[in-house]
Amino acid sequence: MFSLLSEFDLIKNYFSGFANNEFVRLGVGDDAAITSIPAGRELVTTVDTLVADVHFFVDTAPELIAYKALAVNLSDLAAMAASPAWFTLSIAMPEIDESWLDAFSRGLSDLASQHNIALIGGDTVRGPLTITIQACGIVERGKALRRDGAKAGDGIFVTGSLGDARLALEYLKGERTIGKTYQAAVCDKLHRPVARIDEALSLKNFASAAIDISDGLAADLSHILHSSDVGAEILLDKLPVSDAMRACVDAGDRQAMALRGGDDYELCFTVSESRQAAMLTQLGVDGFEVYRIGTITQDKGLRCIDSKGEFTMAEISGYDHFSGQD
Ligand SMILES: [Mg+2]
Repeated sequence: MFSLLSEFDLIKNYFSGFANNEFVRLGVGDDAAITSIPAGRELVTTVDTLVADVHFFVDTAPELIAYKALAVNLSDLAAMAASPAWFTLSIAMPEIDESWLDAFSRGLSDLASQHNIALIGGDTVRGPLTITIQACGIVERGKALRRDGAKAGDGIFVTGSLGDARLALEYLKGERTIGKTYQAAVCDKLHRPVARIDEALSLKNFASAAIDISDGLAADLSHILHSSDVGAEILLDKLPVSDAMRACVDAGDRQAMALRGGDDYELCFTVSESRQAAMLTQLGVDGFEVYRIGTITQDKGLRCIDSKGEFTMAEISGYDHFSGQD
């Protein structure tokens, strides 16, 4: 227990002002929350823990820590094509810091209201700074996107540029320089990843499998390949990279970072050839762009094809989240 404020006061002061939504019958303030799921829907549940100096720098602005802690969970909901419904929060912190909690709460509330996800409960303990969020989403029965639906011949797509979060990490650690014009945008990709919820809801009726890219494209696509019992060919030239990556990183490193850098939180998904035109039409109507990067194959393994048409087998492992070690 904290000495300055009881757990109840902490939750009351900082976490009871969040907006509820139609799924919440009883939110923060009782022994437990009560929620309800509409008929014909299923509940999708995910949990992520962020540990200071493992997943984020301990001196990162608290609103950014809050943003990211929720965003990575929203990204998992997006990967399943679930609409955000509610979440719970557990904070371990070494000592009470009210200004930190105030900023954290604001960052969390901003992103939660953007996605209409309700905070329904929380817990606080003393310990090394650690944030755990469990998030739940709602999806029509049988409509969640899973990792095990990819078939040979399906196109492989991603929702946005890859490698920027890795570039930001190298920049923040002093390992790489970035031109001033790009610094804010690149750091935003690391600190404020956009969960691709809207894109997921737009493409969910077309995709055969999906995952969010948290550990790097090669590592996360490999989860789809493994679950679906297939392989893939990736065209390295087709990996989308930002202007900042093009300006600041040479071509060889660029492809490696796009393939293996983590923390991008774009979606990687597969679509059968016969559904692609309809999907692209729908995405166009909804105002989203996606990038085809390769094809699912019967042959197992992840093969990369360079600009000369040469094959290499991809190293699957992603970068460690924070250490920068391979
Ligand atoms: Mg995930």
